[in-house]
Amino acid sequence: MSLFDMTATDLLAQLQSGGATSVEVTQAFLARIDCHDKSVGAFLRVNREAALAQAERVDRKRACGEPLGRLSGLPVAIKDVLCTAGEPTTCASRMLEEFRPPYDATVVARLKAADAVLIGKTNMDEFAMGGSTENSAFQLTRNPWDLQRIPGGSSGGAAACVAASMAPLSIGTDTGGSIRQPAGLCGVTGMKPTYGRVSRYGLVAFASSLDQAGPLARTAEDAAMLLEVIAGHDRLDSTSVDRPVPSYSQSVRRPLEGLRLGLAREHFGEGLDPEVEKAVREAVRVYESLGATVHDVSLPHSKYAVATYYIIAPCEASSNLARYDGVHYGYRTDQSDRVAELETELASRRAETSATVLDEIDNPLVRMYRRSRAEGFGAEVKRRIMLGTYALSAGYYDAYYLKALKVRRLIRRDFDEAFAQVDLIAGPVAPTPAFKIGERVNDPLSMYLFDLYTVSTNLAGIGGISIPCGLSSAGLPIGLHLQSPPFAEDCLLRAAHMFQQATDWHTRKPVLD
Ligand code: GLN
Repeated sequence: MSLFDMTATDLLAQLQSGGATSVEVTQAFLARIDCHDKSVGAFLRVNREAALAQAERVDRKRACGEPLGRLSGLPVAIKDVLCTAGEPTTCASRMLEEFRPPYDATVVARLKAADAVLIGKTNMDEFAMGGSTENSAFQLTRNPWDLQRIPGGSSGGAAACVAASMAPLSIGTDTGGSIRQPAGLCGVTGMKPTYGRVSRYGLVAFASSLDQAGPLARTAEDAAMLLEVIAGHDRLDSTSVDRPVPSYSQSVRRPLEGLRLGLAREHFGEGLDPEVEKAVREAVRVYESLGATVHDVSLPHSKYAVATYYIIAPCEASSNLARYDGVHYGYRTDQSDRVAELETELASRRAETSATVLDEIDNPLVRMYRRSRAEGFGAEVKRRIMLGTYALSAGYYDAYYLKALKVRRLIRRDFDEAFAQVDLIAGPVAPTPAFKIGERVNDPLSMYLFDLYTVSTNLAGIGGISIPCGLSSAGLPIGLHLQSPPFAEDCLLRAAHMFQQATDWHTRKPVLD
């Protein structure tokens, strides 16, 4: 078996036993990237030299018998929404094309401390807004299973690079499904941890009350190892929770006795592709054959989840993205050199008209902000900013934002009630397999509806994982979604591993040659 075909767990065993060096492992993945990323487009940047230098450092440390971190010598790819000190962090936006953060995100710092090899930054929807990676300002990412199709999003690059064996592990972020949905569409394992489990420090904010970083990998075992490294309290993020991190990678192999699996009627309604439904129901039967019991649960408010999410997320985005004005941060319009000129013009007009208040449209500073934002942001980001600004404006705040917050609470209550009866809820992660590139770009509503099974996890702040559970007749991956109560990552990972011990969907790989 080639190195790039191995799971992270097996690669680590190779590294530890001397079967391979980190330089060899890193070179194997770099060669894979050279070969296939031209067609897949998962990476915005590949850190060839830095990755090899880090691999050499780890090999040297190992040779000297120095203590090594948990991921010593393993390549990890990072979604370009997480700050990497001194290295571009673009969020796939023109706005941040030139941005080099002066510090590392805590997730990145923890990977470095664990002696991981940071192999590159992956493509995404601009500012993580989207579900197909078509909103990247820089490039398309294609689904390795069918290059005419989207990889899902917004962590499309993170999922595609693992699916195409261009990295054994990657980090994504999930605000409304952006780890789980692309994992499902690309046939890999992806987990959104409970809100607060992983530090958001240095994760460029989209919707702060929903954003969470998490692992993508081939297997639940690998995801457990990666989560263990990145999870835990961080005093730099006041929303990170101060709770010990269980040793997920130890417990993942312990089977779950008497697992109670919930099925929600609401997850099997209108819009669900019959092939996806069949694969999910078969997965549930696999669990039954492993001793799990299946129970009906009800999530009556889930029909409002998409509407609630598409109020709350844009509201938070409109506030978070206000900082990109071309002055404090980000892209500044080329015409900014005209500001002085415009100021003179304004001063003379003021004198002429002796008007005390000029329309702010005519204010050169505002003009520069407007141009910078108009040119720096893509269409979907602007749409979200406008939706959010509208919903937060005087007179609409109560009717939209406040109402959405109340429904959010009801959605969480549904889960609390369901989890009083079951350990996990199983269902589809996306209503259909990956769709064709371009098919939905001009139909934002159909894009938003694609999120119907994932957004409630974020609204409720609970955990979720997607694992491969089948292939469609067209040969496209189908994902099984498991949702858990808060801080039950251990249970999610063990249940996912149990499934992967009994099935081989996670071992299927796309043919790329
Ligand atoms: N598709 C969803 C959106 O566009 C989710 C994005 C995400 O999780 N970052 O908002």
